[in-house]
Amino acid sequence: APSTPSNFIRQIIDKDLDSGKHSNIVTRFPPEPNGYLHVGHAKSICLNFGIAQSYQGVCNLRFDDTNPEKENPEYIESIRNDVEWLGFQWPGEPKFASNYFDQLHGYAIELIKAGKAYVCELTPDEARQYRGNLKEPGKDSPYRNRSVEENLDLFDRMKNGEFEEGKMVLRAKIDMASPNMNMRDPIIYRIRFAEHHQTGDKWCVYPMYDFTHPISDALEGITHSLCTLEFEDHRPLYDWLLDNISIECHPQQIEFARLQLNYTVTSKRKLKQLVDEGHVTAWNDPRMPTISGMRRRGYTPAAIRRFCDSIGVAKANSTVDVAMLEAAIRDDLNDNAPRAMCVLNPLKITIQNYPEGQVEQLSAPLHPQKEMGERTLPFTREVFIDKDDFREEANKKFKRLVLGKEVRLRNAYVIRADEVIKDADGEITEIICTHDPDTLGKNPEDGRKVKGVIHWVSATESLPAEVRLYDRLFLDENPDGNKEKSFLELINPEALTVVKTARVEPSVAEGQPEQGYQFEREGYFCIDSKDSQPDQLVLNKTIGLRDTWAK
Ligand code: ATP
Ligand code: MG
Ligand code: MG
Repeated sequence: APSTPSNFIRQIIDKDLDSGKHSNIVTRFPPEPNGYLHVGHAKSICLNFGIAQSYQGVCNLRFDDTNPEKENPEYIESIRNDVEWLGFQWPGEPKFASNYFDQLHGYAIELIKAGKAYVCELTPDEARQYRGNLKEPGKDSPYRNRSVEENLDLFDRMKNGEFEEGKMVLRAKIDMASPNMNMRDPIIYRIRFAEHHQTGDKWCVYPMYDFTHPISDALEGITHSLCTLEFEDHRPLYDWLLDNISIECHPQQIEFARLQLNYTVTSKRKLKQLVDEGHVTAWNDPRMPTISGMRRRGYTPAAIRRFCDSIGVAKANSTVDVAMLEAAIRDDLNDNAPRAMCVLNPLKITIQNYPEGQVEQLSAPLHPQKEMGERTLPFTREVFIDKDDFREEANKKFKRLVLGKEVRLRNAYVIRADEVIKDADGEITEIICTHDPDTLGKNPEDGRKVKGVIHWVSATESLPAEVRLYDRLFLDENPDGNKEKSFLELINPEALTVVKTARVEPSVAEGQPEQGYQFEREGYFCIDSKDSQPDQLVLNKTIGLRDTWAK
């Protein structure tokens, strides 16, 4: 496997190992279970788990579950599946920030006892005013100088459910004049009468993310806490909290640029909206940039990992061309997917000099370069070719079947079109052909050149299939940041085209769900894991043979 290129984070880790600051590397991937993972999360997964792998360390999977109203077990399950499918393992059972609610509560009390946290009763509106803004320092809350005893009592009563939601919060006492807004006495606990998926109704106060995250990291002995750039301004708070409670471990927070892909939306909130409003069928709709959507579409874990390695890890945001992701899957499938033939719009060919009722089992390589073995390919008197591959008249550039001319059927014989049959509307319904029986696996003996090669399937031995052709979900390069239109108005109405007429060669029926193929001359496809049945195949187009979006 290609080794992961170095990056500024790996350089920091190398230095920490050299200096003896650490002898063992521990990272974590900390999703909130409030949606399915998307391609941006794949970058973070590959980074965190990839580092653990390279340094023989570990990477924890930790659910950051401090907003019980937005979270649920379906999301937890999908996240576990996605990380495993990408090829990574965490030690033991996944961890939950909610595992630490008792400890977190204890550290909050420690802060109160040290005079570093207080119960505040400002309304949200008042609190906003007191907070000031980037130009103006904030003002101290009138509740800031409560005694330790009063704070302990009020916080305890908050925990016991004596106050309504929003009436009181616990705030860290830091600095209302700090130029960093996150340091202006941030809220660390709030009241929520919400049932939690892990802790049930044990708690009616929940810790804030900014309080939970550093402490969870420290409790797990994380050495390097990697997060995206928007948390740079939260680092002083991360460090302040760990410096002001009695905990030894102090992980180093390091920020990196989040993955932004053009033609793509990567915000769980917006992806959820696409699902909830029925713009797509589900989180794993093959049009979605979710890991489960890409999986169902036919992307492979290796291709996604290679893409994540290739884009690198930087300290400044930039947008990556989605064509790079598409190229990664195309390259992977070109190397590894077995070949097969599928005719999307069948046109019947009758080979008049081929015996009726005969089924000849031809053999064809599963891959043109790799030793993948052979597949059997039934040949019969009646075959289907694609409607686009026949013309009554055409110039020399059309290297397919033309009336009176010859073409090779891929992996089979050379045929000549003798006669066109049309229905009452003039629509071509059938072509009568003659095959040259001496052209199987060789050129015609007399030296005549047959340049065109087209794909085909047996009319009687092939299987019907529904083929779902996918294209990019958005027509705009920046659906998230368009000034005039919402991302919903920029959806590509042709991101899904369903073809019900397709016929595939029988070898495809043996494929497992998600098995990818190159359908010769058509592109890369896979068996749909949800809707396909052996007797009613459903196939998803993963990607075309070449980039048709390139300018
Ligand atoms: P979203 O904004 O889509 O809701 P999030 O950051 O809130 O994403 P989390 O579940 O908190 O989602 O993310 C888990 C981890 O994945 C975090 O460490 C986060 O920084 C990282 N992550 C999320 N989106 C991206 C992205 N686009 N690129 C790189 N890392 C990301
Ligand atoms: Mg987050
Ligand atoms: Mg979020």
